[in-house]
Amino acid sequence: MRHSVRYFGLIPAAGVGSRMGADSGPKQYLALGGKPMLEHSIDAMLTDARIERVFVVVALADTRWRSIRADAGRVEFLPVGGASRAESVRNGLDAIAGRGEDDDRVLVHDAARPCLGAAQLAALIDEAGGEDGGGLLAVPLSDTLKRGEDGRVAATLDRSSLWCAQTPQLFRIGSLRAALASGPLAGITDEASAMERAGHAPRLVAGVSSNLKVTTPEDVVLAGAVLREQGRV
Ligand code: C5P
Repeated sequence: MRHSVRYFGLIPAAGVGSRMGADSGPKQYLALGGKPMLEHSIDAMLTDARIERVFVVVALADTRWRSIRADAGRVEFLPVGGASRAESVRNGLDAIAGRGEDDDRVLVHDAARPCLGAAQLAALIDEAGGEDGGGLLAVPLSDTLKRGEDGRVAATLDRSSLWCAQTPQLFRIGSLRAALASGPLAGITDEASAMERAGHAPRLVAGVSSNLKVTTPEDVVLAGAVLREQGRV
């Protein structure tokens, strides 16, 4: 008899955050309202009771994850980080093989997106949980898009069908593992692109721009403001 589908979170958190500035350390440990960014991202994933367990991929040499306060019953750290985000995700999926079935779902979420809201997470599971090709949170592009050449505008591009991909991204575990194994990981910057390469068409689930990715010091300020607005700090 077919088991009921289970949902797992997977947070790649093995990056060095080089765009944040030299002395700041890995960005997932930057404090936002007195709490490391990674802790906010884990907490955000735990808001949905359908997510049974959240696995966090950290770098082998990392020791700072031990200071993260997380419910040991639902959160597990895996010291199997790779040289790129895609490698960290693949290693994490390999590490949890056997913990679930191919048909179970994994929601991959960046440690660097601490402002994920409960409503968006729930919408992703509701709208993409039953899709063969999975799905991802994304927002339609709102800025006008320019192609640049030598510091000048070479063209204005049609943005009408363009979306900015966010995380979480939700897929069948077996399909995502197969997709990541189906070709080189170079150039794979999110799970959806690996799925696309393997012939799937993941569903775009409308998200909100406040689920921003913290990349630069300016983003830290913005993320702090969003978390305050959400009453989370
Ligand atoms: O650097 P970037 O913002 O693209 O990283 C996105 C996510 O991937 C972050 O959560 C980061 O910690 C993670 N990552 C990883 N392993 C790497 C590089 C990035 O887990 N080698």
